[in-house]
Amino acid sequence: MTQQILELGNPELRLPSQTVEDVMSDRIQTLIDRLLVAVKEANGVGIAAPQVGERVRLFIVASRPNPRYPYAPEMEPTAMLNPRIVSHSGETEKGWEGCLSVPGMRGLVPRYTAIEVEYTGRDGTLQRQTLTDFVARIFQHELDHLDGKVFLDRVESTDDLMTEQEFHKRVVVDQLTKK
Ligand code: ZN
Repeated sequence: MTQQILELGNPELRLPSQTVEDVMSDRIQTLIDRLLVAVKEANGVGIAAPQVGERVRLFIVASRPNPRYPYAPEMEPTAMLNPRIVSHSGETEKGWEGCLSVPGMRGLVPRYTAIEVEYTGRDGTLQRQTLTDFVARIFQHELDHLDGKVFLDRVESTDDLMTEQEFHKRVVVDQLTKK
């Protein structure tokens, strides 16, 4: 069964999410499994619980090269509960983002290039990590979803928007040759 993902315009995407209290509960563990399937099916590199209509502070970061992001680094898909940024670089960088809730669009979004983060893993243990570049970008994008924000809110100019089709023609080819 394909997981339904809420799209821009659905007012639920704009609401803040609640802290997860019961990490080991069936409800949360099942939700994590649903999100892991959904992000894979949709060729995403991340997904947040509110995108499937569950307003809890939980998201998946799952960077891997796929048809939507051919230049993404590979990592084990990771559930992050009650995530927060502990500290961040002074430096920000603009990079291209898309969103499963905003189909067909890409935008250039400024994000911190390095962040120190804290979250609870799906096994209930507290994790602290330093994330950089693309993975740091995913974390910041997903964290915004927990506060009712989408990447379009952070795009500085409409000149920084592209359709998915133009993005693949102009940017992906570029990134792959730079690598
Ligand atoms: Zn998103």
